[in-house]
Amino acid sequence: MRIDVVSIFPSYFDGLSLSLLGKARESGILDLHVHDLRDWTSDRHRTVDDTPYGGGAGMVMKPEPWALALDELSAHSDASTIIFPSPAGEVFRQSRARELAEQEHLIIGCGRYEGIDERVFEYAVSLGDVHLVSLGDYVLNGGEVAAMAMIEAVGRLIPGVVGNPESLVEESHEDGLLEYPSYTKPAQWRSRDVPEVLLSGNHGAIATWRREQQLERTRTRRPDLLGD
Ligand code: SAM
Repeated sequence: MRIDVVSIFPSYFDGLSLSLLGKARESGILDLHVHDLRDWTSDRHRTVDDTPYGGGAGMVMKPEPWALALDELSAHSDASTIIFPSPAGEVFRQSRARELAEQEHLIIGCGRYEGIDERVFEYAVSLGDVHLVSLGDYVLNGGEVAAMAMIEAVGRLIPGVVGNPESLVEESHEDGLLEYPSYTKPAQWRSRDVPEVLLSGNHGAIATWRREQQLERTRTRRPDLLGD
């Protein structure tokens, strides 16, 4: 998969050369390119923002650098999916991550200031499949942290990125529930015991216990996932 990220702070993404995603990039499974939006400006100050029409606090990102960036980057594929992180977008979920992991080309446009001129989102529709995606119901300073979270969530679903694909199956949100609790050695630690059933070797009993734990955790921590 090719991912192009556009930001005015490209060095935010240096961390994506670490760990599993770093290895995926080295092996060519993940072809990640990070671009500076200012490379698509033409004035001496490399300006990417201006004052908002109608007044109000803050600055808005100018449309033209974004249009030039999207024109150039969308030409890398016949089918680009263009994502704009935005607190006003749909909340990012595992189901969307799964869908994005099947695409051949993602472009992620990271806003700053008060956001991007609205016409950019309309224009982008002529270049690809556009999604405004929120990390959650709070406001960040920019789209970079959200983009990194999305790249990691999507990247680990690309076949070959996580060594054992089995470990992707029994995770929180894969079947609409939270994951069951996990334990490792020692069996007793600081007066706390690992649940006995996990030491029993009885796979049926373990599976039943884990399912119950999933349901209980979801009921208490995230009842919204159960539609309650
Ligand atoms: N004025 C905008 C609003 O109220 O919707 C918020 C702008 S925010 C300060 C600047 C940028 O941060 C946004 O354009 C977006 O790229 C990013 N951002 C902020 N919160 C986000 C969130 N919860 N999810 C995804 N991106 C977010």
